[in-house]
Amino acid sequence: MNPTPASANHSQPTPVDLVVSGGVVLTLDAEDTVLPAGAVALGEGRVVEVGEAAAVRARYPDAPVLDATGSVVLPGLVNTHTHLAMSLLRGTADDVDLQGFLARVIPLEQRLLTTDNVAAGVLLALAESLRGGTTTALDMYWFHQAAAGVARRAGFRLLAGPTFMDVPDLPDGISDFGERLRLADAELAGREPDALGRPSVFAHSTYTLDEAQLRSVGALAREHGALLHVHAAENQTEVDTVLDRTGRRPVELLADLGLLGPDTVLAHAVWLTDTELDLVADSGASVAHCPVSNAKLAAGIARVPDLVARGVPVGLGTDGSACATGLNLFDVMRYGALLHSVHTGDPSAVGARSVLRMATAGGARALGLQDRLGSLEPGKLADLVVVRTDRPHTRPEHDPYSTVVYAATAADVRHTVVGGEVLVRDGHLVGIGDEEVDEAVARWGRHASSATG
Ligand SMILES: [Zn+2]
Repeated sequence: MNPTPASANHSQPTPVDLVVSGGVVLTLDAEDTVLPAGAVALGEGRVVEVGEAAAVRARYPDAPVLDATGSVVLPGLVNTHTHLAMSLLRGTADDVDLQGFLARVIPLEQRLLTTDNVAAGVLLALAESLRGGTTTALDMYWFHQAAAGVARRAGFRLLAGPTFMDVPDLPDGISDFGERLRLADAELAGREPDALGRPSVFAHSTYTLDEAQLRSVGALAREHGALLHVHAAENQTEVDTVLDRTGRRPVELLADLGLLGPDTVLAHAVWLTDTELDLVADSGASVAHCPVSNAKLAAGIARVPDLVARGVPVGLGTDGSACATGLNLFDVMRYGALLHSVHTGDPSAVGARSVLRMATAGGARALGLQDRLGSLEPGKLADLVVVRTDRPHTRPEHDPYSTVVYAATAADVRHTVVGGEVLVRDGHLVGIGDEEVDEAVARWGRHASSATG
């Protein structure tokens, strides 16, 4: 981790430019420290100090204060699997399974996606994400440079990068796999470092790429020290398809190709045998658990308690809004905890503490960013959420973890701060404006009706 500004022996202490004060602070540090009346001091985009509100306020008397009374303060939520621009396709492929979903959505993407439309979709998605307390997302989609540009402008932490999927008529028109690899290689080589320092490469799945292609994408990711993100074992039909084609199940195949490792994030990982669970655990790979998407597409229920028991880093993902309908990690936390209770018959299988950790520190660990994100500790990036807990549906507050997971909703997010910048204040977007989002969606609507009508 970077040196702790408040505790390092620097002659110049880090200036504090914001103190978030007055709420219950859930730090999500290794000890699960809770400060009942806490404050978080932020400066130069990082957490400078976390402590009792009175003491922190007294130490930085001139710093502006962001009020968190009647609220819970959490680290920013981390969405470990999504397709942000698919928000524009919300409602176009409901009540179908994964294969039905792909059959409907891929032709729409081929017809409708452009750089401008992806930018519009990402703007809409970031408005929803930030309002719901999400500050970081791993985003697999076409025209990723347009997405990254919007995220930079909005102040959101987006892990985006080249995507590989070998199906006809790709939306970006780069049909030659070798050319796509060359372009990706050049882009990654010239990439400007950012605060996360984590390039990403996206291999869609073991059913849309053949073995040689998967090997090439894995080699590309390794060469550039990139995170490799891949859909794997989402539903039974996918497993059967890959078995028929290769003689191996998706995760076995990834292991055989050398694609499982500490830099690999598997999306879904629902249908895993005991052997595959061990392969994932032994390799150090992570899982992005998407219970709402898995339920909506009737994909199945991931073996999350077994993954956690083996020490596999598990984060939470929304998946895209075309299949999961929203980008709301509060829904994912609550639904995930309930789903595993009913599935295992054990209400503590994935409890409130465990699922909130998946949405924060666990997600950061899944992305290999645990030294920068996921908890409120000095030196970490200044990403946090203030959630109101003084409304009828959240009162009284006996256990702040339970309140956040079981009672609060995304609509209770009061402030969202990324890198020390307040991007949602009192429930209103500050960085990107509502009008801008409205215009982007209206522009998309005109484009879609002219392209399909
Ligand atoms: Zn997905």
